[in-house]
Amino acid sequence: DPMIKLEGVGKSYRAGEAEVRALHGIELTVDEGDFVAIMGPSGSGKSTMMNILGCLDVPTEGRYLLDGIDVSGMSDDELAAIRNRKIGLVFQSYNLLPRTTALDNVELPLVYGNHRARRSRALRALEEVGLADRATHLPNQLSGGQQQRVAIARALVTRPTMLLADEPTGNLDTGASHEIAEMLGRLSDAGRTVVLITHEEEIAAYARRVVRLRDGRIVSDDRTDFADVSR
Ligand code: ADP
Ligand code: ADP
Repeated sequence: DPMIKLEGVGKSYRAGEAEVRALHGIELTVDEGDFVAIMGPSGSGKSTMMNILGCLDVPTEGRYLLDGIDVSGMSDDELAAIRNRKIGLVFQSYNLLPRTTALDNVELPLVYGNHRARRSRALRALEEVGLADRATHLPNQLSGGQQQRVAIARALVTRPTMLLADEPTGNLDTGASHEIAEMLGRLSDAGRTVVLITHEEEIAAYARRVVRLRDGRIVSDDRTDFADVSR
């Protein structure tokens, strides 16, 4: 099964009397291990797409098969369970607990297993993002790029099959942005499916595939040969 399969997906919002159609007839297949950037101008439907792909919301039309499971008709509780098992979410803001070390922040999503097992798992996730030597630092002792790496480690610690990053470089300078994009590329090389929402062309260029939205429809879907050259 592909990791993501959207079949005729549409999403409408009711705004008073009016109905806003944020997505129409979306067909999208993403294979396991692929690295896809989703781009588009403001209002084109990126956030709506992110919410559906991340099991934060369901489509009003069509089907979403996540790793072969139809999640389109699921209740909020069922969606939360699927999300916890399969999806790591990363946002523009890092949402780290301020008085809590990097390691403890990464450990937060781990709800079972003994303390030692959870710590070693959290430490491995920090190693994966190259921050094992910052484990005892507090967020305000880390740069923005390092804080986002801690947030990525926290998203990875439950070993999701898919990482979904919504404007992860939105608060970062150019150097840190490129480091984060490169890291997403490495995670995808290691077999994870990565979906990156961004409006920055040079960040999207790290993906293997760029899907562009306009007015709620996919207007292009291209493989980027460039990505292989840049790594
Ligand atoms: P983007 O993330 O690309 O800016 P969005 O998915 O946020 O696009 O929005 C797509 C369209 O759906 C826009 O016209 C927006 O105004 C509308 N929209 C998004 N969320 C809501 C909502 N909760 N209620 C009503 N309209 C919404
Ligand atoms: P292990 O290597 O410990 O056997 P797995 O990778 O087989 O772990 O874990 C299976 C799934 O269970 C993982 O994908 C992850 O989502 C979840 N998981 C494992 N440990 C924890 C934990 N301590 N807290 C929350 N979820 C966990």
